Amino acid sequence: MVIIQGKSVYKGIAIGKISFFKRGKIDTSKTTITDTQKEVERFKIAKDKSILQLKNLYEKALTETGEENAQIFEIHQMMLEDDDYNQSILDMINEQKVNSEYAVDETGKNFAEMFSSTEDEYMNARAVDVKDISDRILKNLTGIDLDSSTNEKCIICADDLSPSETIQLDKDKVLAFVTSKGSANSHTSILARTMNIPAIIGIGDALLNPIYDGKTAIVDGYNGTLYIEPTEPILREMKHKLQSDINERLSLNGLKGQPNTTIDGTTINVFANIGGVADLTKVIENDASGIGLFRSEFLYLESDDYPSEEKQFQSYKKVLETMQDKKVVVRTLDIGADKQIDYFNLDKEENPAMGYRAIRICLDKQHIFKTQLRALFRASVYGNLAIMFPMIISKDEILQIKSIIEVVKNELKEENIPFANDIEIGVMIETPAAAIISDILAPEVDFFSIGTNDLSQYTLAIDRQNAKLENFFNPHHEAILRLIKTTIDNAHKNDIWVGICGELGSDISLTETFLKMGVDELSVSAPCVLPIRNKIRNIDLSK
Ligand code: PEP
Ligand code: MG
Repeated sequence: MVIIQGKSVYKGIAIGKISFFKRGKIDTSKTTITDTQKEVERFKIAKDKSILQLKNLYEKALTETGEENAQIFEIHQMMLEDDDYNQSILDMINEQKVNSEYAVDETGKNFAEMFSSTEDEYMNARAVDVKDISDRILKNLTGIDLDSSTNEKCIICADDLSPSETIQLDKDKVLAFVTSKGSANSHTSILARTMNIPAIIGIGDALLNPIYDGKTAIVDGYNGTLYIEPTEPILREMKHKLQSDINERLSLNGLKGQPNTTIDGTTINVFANIGGVADLTKVIENDASGIGLFRSEFLYLESDDYPSEEKQFQSYKKVLETMQDKKVVVRTLDIGADKQIDYFNLDKEENPAMGYRAIRICLDKQHIFKTQLRALFRASVYGNLAIMFPMIISKDEILQIKSIIEVVKNELKEENIPFANDIEIGVMIETPAAAIISDILAPEVDFFSIGTNDLSQYTLAIDRQNAKLENFFNPHHEAILRLIKTTIDNAHKNDIWVGICGELGSDISLTETFLKMGVDELSVSAPCVLPIRNKIRNIDLSK
């Protein structure tokens, strides 16, 4: 048995096989082959596998997100069957005697160039699709298998995972996360909390030994220990712990439908954080009273190009309809820093967390921002929508946002497109500047939502991505708590509500402190809703 110690970022026990996250770049360089028949056969097998995967993806998307979003996988299947596309690849293999990887990559590039050079918008959009289908064949040719065919759930091990990598994972097959780097507020940790699976970070390079791939292991998310090839007694002990977790979870189910009210009668909202439509099942399952943070940038991270107004509209509509009259707070695009997207073509920055990100990009590239606002306003008639803006540091930014909103509303009115008149507009308080001038910001908005993940990194000057700083990081630092208190006081002086949507909101050891400060809402990952409800119901603020 090998025991490696790291830092737990989400409790729980997982027992299963280790699977290293495979990212590797595919080698598409040109090599000369002699057996063209064999090469053609390789290509055909990879193509058939791709078609099968796309069929499955279509079915999955159809049940999870509806026909509109599923269509793309049908289009991809049709493109894969296209005669010209296939002929080009086969000709290259047969006539130039080159390897399939090169033939597929070259054909993909040629077709993409051809599609993007036309005047036709529809054809332009197909350029991304042809690259996507070629990538899929390449992955199947080289065995880099994102839609892994194994049905076994695994413990995913990696150095760290970026937000765009986490969305590629088939979540149904993940038992736990273990990373050699990582930090408590990184998106791997946030994802683990959302999925209610244990996660250990900062375990060091000892983890990355390839001989561990496929080995049985236990993740003990209570004390941050990874056991590889555990002994019988450890296995027995951990199975016992796992069972008591399951029992505890079952007993929390009794709190569904109960109010989030303290013994002395104070009620607050406990909402859920989501990254997209796929998280809704957990929101309903855990009886959240609303959605306090929809990280809309995941719609952009999931796409290969800017998601269209229609695509965004469908996602927002689906979330609003599912939540019926419950509040849904959508945070506008928060891209940059740790959430990088290739097609945004952002410059490399010395200091990305303090760089060109979130609302700064939206105010700078207003066409992107307006597309999102149009989609949101159009969707607003399907439920109880609130919109909030990330990384605010000044009143001037709010005024600019408001004037862009007016332009969008006028456009929609002219086009006779209906939208709700009572959409609440709020800002995230996640920079020290915003917290300190929250008295100036409050009169301009309907609510505040405190983003403690960024607020902590900026207040303490501790990069939330840097595992080396974990020992210096005190999430309960007095400076952070004071800024939260200041924000709550200033919100209430101006009669607006205030919530916490950063990870600190689910820290049960602070629930009583936040309630005493007067917070109106806590928005946490869905599996944390019932534990927080349980905590609130056992607090007596009169004491
Ligand atoms: C935060 O900063 O606390 C927050 C909720 O936003 P994100 O974690 O997505 O940056
Ligand atoms: Mg943030």
